[in-house]
Amino acid sequence: MVEGAPRILLATNNPGKVREMRALLEPGGWTVLTPADRGLVLEPEESGETYAENALIKARAFAAAVGMAVMADDSGLEVDALDGRPGVRSARYGGPDATFAQRIDLLLSELAGVPADWRGARFQSVIAIVVPDGRHWLTCGAIEGRIGMAPRGTGGFGYDPIFMLAGRSETMAEIDEAEKNRISHRAIAVQQALALLEQLRHDPAL
Ligand code: IMP
Repeated sequence: MVEGAPRILLATNNPGKVREMRALLEPGGWTVLTPADRGLVLEPEESGETYAENALIKARAFAAAVGMAVMADDSGLEVDALDGRPGVRSARYGGPDATFAQRIDLLLSELAGVPADWRGARFQSVIAIVVPDGRHWLTCGAIEGRIGMAPRGTGGFGYDPIFMLAGRSETMAEIDEAEKNRISHRAIAVQQALALLEQLRHDPAL
């Protein structure tokens, strides 16, 4: 925690997202709080059809519960050979109780027989910032790659072990966290959000 720094609550219970967003926001001079820090237990239903709608649903739900700026990320993996699935439903792909190993197995089985050149994919992230007076802002980021033939690496989270970076031989789970935080979909969206937050730093609504 940075003494005297403005505070922002991350509207997520996903430890991978918290780790990455904290690493991106704290060097920008923000004190990052999690729902657990505020004793908040909220699981807003992600009923939107787009990343932007879901990011706003999450940010607004948490903002209604705390009187401070809130940031939410909604993200997903889009696979070209699957017409963009799982996309906005990435967190529920294979059912709400599936493990990540099961989701990865399911995705690989759906792509069985699809050659490397046809396995194009991208991660998308939309960040919503909501402040207590109800104003909101959206930023976005994407990173291109392709789905590997088998999972590799132990870094990151979620689908990272099967996401091969464009023009490289590593998966997102084989690079270190500092590099992921320079190039990822979420890093791009959070950097834009930081520029917005910089303008809001002295806003009386914060
Ligand atoms: P949501 O944003 O909470 O709807 O979840 C997004 C889904 O996409 C989750 O299942 C994540 O694990 C997955 N996802 C989002 N970002 C990443 C990432 O950086 N790496 C791997 N999987 C991700």
